Amino acid sequence: MEIDVIELAKNTEICKNCKNLVIGKGNEKAEILFVGEAPGKNEDEQGLPFVGAAGKNLDKLLSEVGLSLKDIYVTNILKCRPPENREPSEEEIRAHTPWLIKQIKDMKPKIVCSLGNYATKFFLANGEVDKMNKQPGITSVHGKVRSIDFEGLRITLIPLFHPAAIIYNRTLTSEWEKDMNIVKSEISQKTLF
Ligand code: URA
Repeated sequence: MEIDVIELAKNTEICKNCKNLVIGKGNEKAEILFVGEAPGKNEDEQGLPFVGAAGKNLDKLLSEVGLSLKDIYVTNILKCRPPENREPSEEEIRAHTPWLIKQIKDMKPKIVCSLGNYATKFFLANGEVDKMNKQPGITSVHGKVRSIDFEGLRITLIPLFHPAAIIYNRTLTSEWEKDMNIVKSEISQKTLF
């Protein structure tokens, strides 16, 4: 019997206590998917990902590479906000990522930009949550493009710093700008637009 991925996520304590589920935004038919970590306070209130301070940085990033929400879809590893924005637990990731996998299978993106450690480790571990902690951190893999075979789909993975990390660490901004050029060149090589 197929598991109900939405019920699985909704049954976690964080979903019982949040205001809104945050499923995603943008174009579900797009070929580029951005995956963040988990909704924050603003996202929980509005039911949309990346609408707070990190979202402003993401918008800037997108416009720098000529992308808008028409061209991409944005979602998170967790579909609801952990209290006090604490880091996701392994159990929560296990319960929420079947929904993410379903989104990916429906969308079939050519490029996935993983934002920050959690999303990056999830893809590097090929969706195997117990292998995530063995994966290298974002500091060593950001901007390094690789081709992965994920759920039978060939995907170009581009790990990026989390847009929130840029807010608190201005020195990351120049690295981030270099990474954006890599995103730009991958998009043009794949002649997505
Ligand atoms: N940080 C995330 O990882 N996702 C959001 O939706 C907002 C902030």
